[in-house]
Amino acid sequence: MQASIALLEKYSKPGPRYTSYPTAPYFSTAFSEADWRAELMCSQASGRDLSLYVHIPFCDSLCYYCGCNMVATQDYTKATSYLDVLFDEIERSAELAGDGRVVRQIHWGGGTPTYLKPADILRLSQHLHRHFMVAEDAEIGCEVDPRALSHEHVQALKQAGFNRVSVGVQDLDERVQRAVNRLQPLALIQQVYGWMRSEGFNSINMDLMVGLPHQSVASFNATLDEILALSPDRLAVFGYAHVPWLKKHQKLIQEPDLPDFATRLSLQELIQRRLSEAGYVYIGMDHFARHDDELVRAQQQKTLWRNFQGYTTHRDCDILAFGASAISQTDDVYAQNFKRLADYHTRVGQGSLPIERGLRISEDDKIRRDAITRIMCDLELDKAAFSQVWGLDFDTYFVQSLTELEALSADGLVEITPQRVRVTEAGRIFLRNIAMAFDAYLQQTDGAVPRYSRTV
Ligand code: SF4
Repeated sequence: MQASIALLEKYSKPGPRYTSYPTAPYFSTAFSEADWRAELMCSQASGRDLSLYVHIPFCDSLCYYCGCNMVATQDYTKATSYLDVLFDEIERSAELAGDGRVVRQIHWGGGTPTYLKPADILRLSQHLHRHFMVAEDAEIGCEVDPRALSHEHVQALKQAGFNRVSVGVQDLDERVQRAVNRLQPLALIQQVYGWMRSEGFNSINMDLMVGLPHQSVASFNATLDEILALSPDRLAVFGYAHVPWLKKHQKLIQEPDLPDFATRLSLQELIQRRLSEAGYVYIGMDHFARHDDELVRAQQQKTLWRNFQGYTTHRDCDILAFGASAISQTDDVYAQNFKRLADYHTRVGQGSLPIERGLRISEDDKIRRDAITRIMCDLELDKAAFSQVWGLDFDTYFVQSLTELEALSADGLVEITPQRVRVTEAGRIFLRNIAMAFDAYLQQTDGAVPRYSRTV
C-alpha cells in the first residue's frame, strides 16, 4: 500500500484525458470557418457514416465540481432562443455534409439536455431526423440529470428514439452532495431509474465521481452498495478534476475537504474490486460495462475507439457536432464551435458556421493518435501490427516514447517486450501517464504547455 501511495504521488501530475489527439488546447484560431466548410465539402465524397453530437449548455443550478461548458439559468427563454439558432446550424451543416450519409450514432450532452421541456426534446429530435438519414439501429444516447426530470421527460426520450441514457449520480452521501451543491437523494435516483426501465431503456449508464470533498472509503462503499443494487448496464467512475484556475466556480470547493492521496488510492482500489466482484469489466479510463456489453466485445476484438463522448464502437464515423463549444471531427480535422453563447448566436445569425478554432492534423499526429487510442482502448499495443498498419518500425519511430516508458516499466505500470507494450493491472489507474509518453506536443519546450487536470 505504501509503495502504491508513493506511485500516486510520483505520477499525479497535470495531463490530458485524450478524448482527442492533439488535445483541444492545441486547436488554433488560424483554422477558420472557411477551412471547416471546405473539409465538409470534401467529406461528402468519402461517404463516411456520421455520428452527431448536440450540446445543450443549460442547467438549473451549478454543481461546484462541474468541468463542462454550461450556463446555470432558470430562464427557459434562453433555451428556446438557443434552439432556434441550433436548428439553423444543424440545417446548414447537413446541407454541406451531403446526402446519403448514414447516421450511426447520436449523442446529446451538456450542460443538461433534459433541461429541455419534453415537447422541445421531441422538436429537436424531429429536426435532426428531418435533415439526416438516421439508421434504424442507430445508437441514440442522452445525458440525464435526475433532478427536475419528470416521467414525461423519459417518455419523450423514448418517443424520440433514444435507446441509451446516462444518469449523473456522482455520490449518494448527503454531506458530499451538499459540499458540491448537488442534492439528489437515493429515492430520486431509484424513481428515475424505475421510469427508465419501465419505458424499456435497456442500456442505462450511471456516472459516479471520486475525489469529491468529504468522500471516504466507507461513504463511497455505501454509494456503491445502492448503485450496484440497481444494476446499471454501464458505469463510469470519473476522477474529479480540480482546476480552479480554469473553472473559477471550483473555488467554492474547500481544498482541505478533498480526499488525500491515501484515500484516493483506497477509493480506486475499492472501485476496481467492487465493480469486478459485481461482474463489470474494466473498459479503460474510468469506464466499466457488463461482460455481455458491446463495448466489452469491441475491446476483445480490438475495435474499440475513443472520442469526445468517451468510448465508442463507431470508429469510422465523422462527427458533426452542434451547439456552443461542440467539437466536430473528420479523419483529418478537428473543428470547435464558439464557446460563448453570445458569439455562437451571432455567428449562426450571420449565416456562418460558428467555428472558433480547429486543427488540420499531420501524419505524425495520426500515428500518435492511433498509438494513444490503442493504449486507452486495448490496454496494449502490438508493435508488429502497428508497424504494418503505418508502414514504420515501431521501436525506431517511438524511440523517445519507449525511453520515457522505461521509468513506468521499472515501477511495474507497463510491460515492454520486443512484441508489445502492455498496461499492467497496477498501471490501469495511470493510463493517462502511459499515453503521455506518446504525446509529441507535451515534449515541446516553448513554454506553452497547457494546464491540465491531474492524471490521478
Ligand atoms: S448538471 Fe452537469 S453540466 Fe450542469 S452544472 Fe452540474 S455537472 Fe455541470
